[in-house]
Amino acid sequence: MGKTKHNGPIKLPMTPDPKHWVSPIPFGLGKVKPKHIRDTLKVVLENRDNLPYAYRILTQGVCDGCALGVSGLYDQTLTGPHLCTTRLNVLRLNTMPAIKGEILHADIDELRKMDSTDLRKLGRIPYPLSRKPGENKFKRISWDEALNKIANKIKSIDPKQLAFFLTARGITNEVYYTAGKLARFIGTNNIDNASRICHSPSKTALKRSIGIGASSCNYQDWIGTDVLIFWGSVAANNQPVSTKYMYAAKRKGTKIICINPYREPAMDGYWVPSIPDSALFGTKIADDFYQVNIGGDIAFMNGVMKHWFEMEKKNPGSALDHNFIREHANGLENLRNHIENQDWEQLEKSSGISKERMLEFATLLAKSKSGVFVWSMGLTQHRFGTDNISQVANLAILQGFIGREHCGVMPIRGHSGVQGSGEMGADPFVLPGSDFDEENIDRMEKIWGFDIPKWQGDIVGVSLENAVLPEDHERKLKVFYTSGGNFLETMPDPHFMKKCLENVDVRVHQDIILNTSTLVDAKEEVIVLPAMTRYEQRGGGTSTSTERMVYFSPEIKGPRIEEARSEWEIYVELAALVKPEQKHLLHFTEGEQIRAEIAVANRNYDGIQHLKDKGDVFQWGGAWLCEGGICPTEDGRGNLIPIELPELRKPEGQFYVTSRRGKQFNSMIYSETDPFNAADRYDVLIHPEDAQEHGILENEAIVVHNQQGTFHGKAKYANTRRGNISVYWPEGNVLLQKGVYEKFAGIPEYNISVMVEKAETFNAYKDTKYVEKRNEELEIEPS
Ligand code: SF4
Repeated sequence: MGKTKHNGPIKLPMTPDPKHWVSPIPFGLGKVKPKHIRDTLKVVLENRDNLPYAYRILTQGVCDGCALGVSGLYDQTLTGPHLCTTRLNVLRLNTMPAIKGEILHADIDELRKMDSTDLRKLGRIPYPLSRKPGENKFKRISWDEALNKIANKIKSIDPKQLAFFLTARGITNEVYYTAGKLARFIGTNNIDNASRICHSPSKTALKRSIGIGASSCNYQDWIGTDVLIFWGSVAANNQPVSTKYMYAAKRKGTKIICINPYREPAMDGYWVPSIPDSALFGTKIADDFYQVNIGGDIAFMNGVMKHWFEMEKKNPGSALDHNFIREHANGLENLRNHIENQDWEQLEKSSGISKERMLEFATLLAKSKSGVFVWSMGLTQHRFGTDNISQVANLAILQGFIGREHCGVMPIRGHSGVQGSGEMGADPFVLPGSDFDEENIDRMEKIWGFDIPKWQGDIVGVSLENAVLPEDHERKLKVFYTSGGNFLETMPDPHFMKKCLENVDVRVHQDIILNTSTLVDAKEEVIVLPAMTRYEQRGGGTSTSTERMVYFSPEIKGPRIEEARSEWEIYVELAALVKPEQKHLLHFTEGEQIRAEIAVANRNYDGIQHLKDKGDVFQWGGAWLCEGGICPTEDGRGNLIPIELPELRKPEGQFYVTSRRGKQFNSMIYSETDPFNAADRYDVLIHPEDAQEHGILENEAIVVHNQQGTFHGKAKYANTRRGNISVYWPEGNVLLQKGVYEKFAGIPEYNISVMVEKAETFNAYKDTKYVEKRNEELEIEPS
């Protein structure tokens, strides 16, 4: 952990610099770009019934959008206001009234006709609800009845048959911590969180490579670093205010490089609304793009390292930071031998990048004195996600880009609360403060005063799959308690997911809104509990940003939803009902008590106990983790890890498909049109030459299909690496295979090979091969 403290926000240059403009034509007239003013007015209109409260949330609360992190309208990176349309879109979740009774208690089939966007717009869940098999409507029940039913069911099953999940919609550290403690208190380690499907490999890889589980640096390190690399990350879309930091970086001479199969328009040029010259003329963001194959990153990085080792042979000291490696890293020889055995032809084929282009990138990094690597789902959501990230760490270690100013490795997060979820212990592989290992179990048992179950808990995907195990299996999922989350829209193979959700005896959805998963039947009962938002949470709460800033968000005065409760209070009550004789061991009456306990349970969070007012913030770990190159590993050194090329299973003539985000906040869709390329949600981004080879015209109906499913869309020509296509997430999840998890971190595989055909020929073929599907219900057993 570092000694140096973050110095707080710095000033942005306000004099214009035409060198970075996209075009001298004002407001990007004629170009496809987001319409910030129009979108802001739309939000004002949407919130017009609750404007003063909306204003207070924006000016006093900590943003519940992405994890860039902002308290009120100010952050820790730059002076000046910080606001974006993602935050404004999410705002309505906080200000809208409850769902009208006649809609909430309408026929379930009527509700099921709605998609998650329609359901979200209905309003907030007002009071506890229940629905049993055969009942076609939600029934109102009391809190007592709801919690007693849940507690009694939990008491009747083996704790291994119980699983908890917490998403990241505005959830606070206090809630994650209490949930993690509750799960262990009632005997289960099956507790997981939303980072399982986003950055779990980042944590696993950084831990094994350099001993940390979070960003090693700050956003301020972007500003003035020699090279800033976005790898599989469209920060301009998913963390919009980051473009302001990118603008500041460009003004300091930083080179920005993007590595991604698609040349993302948002990373090419952006009109930053709060910076006058950028708002008018746009800012060229990326200096260069490396359009790598989906899954080709390991090969690309091996190629870069191969160049470095060759450069070193010719001219020692020209490519690597020998001092840093000698003082702070293990495994150079092993890595060198591994890399030297790599075959250029294979590296080029796998990565899709030529040897010459790899040399350009290798030379750029070798000549840079500082560098920051930022990445997202393009690197993590693979069955080799952990290896991808360890490769990034290899590059950073070889260049000595760790533990000092303008250097670092940063898994940039997309959900405001998610960084804290694992750190608070809402994760099957960790307890607060450290891993789920003997030493930490022993330590936490002393702090908590009760025995922690010793068996390994399951990740959420496996817990859900356990619902279809035989009835008498010890891990058959019988109670699934989820705070938020929509598994039908975030996990591969939605049909199978539905079957899993239906096979659970009792499902509890603790949430602020309904989504399509809430409406799925359960074997015995679906119970819905109305949760409070972070701004309603009694006594306020904290959340941790990507750069490890722990922000306090106060309780904000305003209208309240009928019976919604603070989520940590619900967990405390449930604990008392399941284990009344030990309820004093999990008994919080105020958020302050939880924060005081967190400070002891996770020593990195020492300081959280002092947060109590609007604007209070501290950064755990100091400005740089691994400061001075000292890593919190066993021997204090980073580990260079040789990584094998993954086997990419793409038969000739097929494509790799990946997913991308449009105007959405995680799985919540805010527009059918992508503001950066005007694509709609069913457009398939395909290289024009690939399309023409298949006789596919622009805008023509096409079918993307494989053994898992069929996606009907429209071809949209795009500047993407040939052989790689993109579909929007989560619509494209029907193409993904269930049960394929990355072996170290458990993230599902979100990329797969597919065939692409004109709809016309696909349907004609299907007609000739049409075989009537068996309908078991219509089949009569011969008597
Ligand atoms: S960039 Fe992220 S943290 Fe900042 S206002 Fe937008 S959603 Fe909130």
